[in-house]
Amino acid sequence: MSRKRRLREEEKPQPRAKGSARQDLILEIVKTDVTFEQYAEGWVGRCLHCNTSIHVGLSGQSSGTIEHIVPSSAGGSGTDLTNLALACSRCNNEKGIRHDPVYPSDPRAVEVVNNLLAKRKKRWREPG
Ligand SMILES: [Zn+2]
Repeated sequence: MSRKRRLREEEKPQPRAKGSARQDLILEIVKTDVTFEQYAEGWVGRCLHCNTSIHVGLSGQSSGTIEHIVPSSAGGSGTDLTNLALACSRCNNEKGIRHDPVYPSDPRAVEVVNNLLAKRKKRWREPG
């Protein structure tokens, strides 16, 4: 019987919200982010990084992506809403802003993450 090499912690696949679970999570983020305003067709708010508009439908469908501020690879929560925000697809695809690979070993990445956590905190509203 061949035995697969055991995965190190950082290699384990992270649980990812998919489908309606993902949409539910997006709605939770929207409700706790003061930049998001509800209108007839859904919500519109701002990307955590660049402040560009992000649209979210009433059932949570969005071109925006869920951003883990403290990367899940570094133990950041995927359910704690203070660690989650919405990012536009452009920012999500931009390699330049990715801090995951060097967090928390690089002081610059730590600074970026701390700034994003503070920004998220400033945007926080209690879900009503
Ligand atoms: Zn953006």
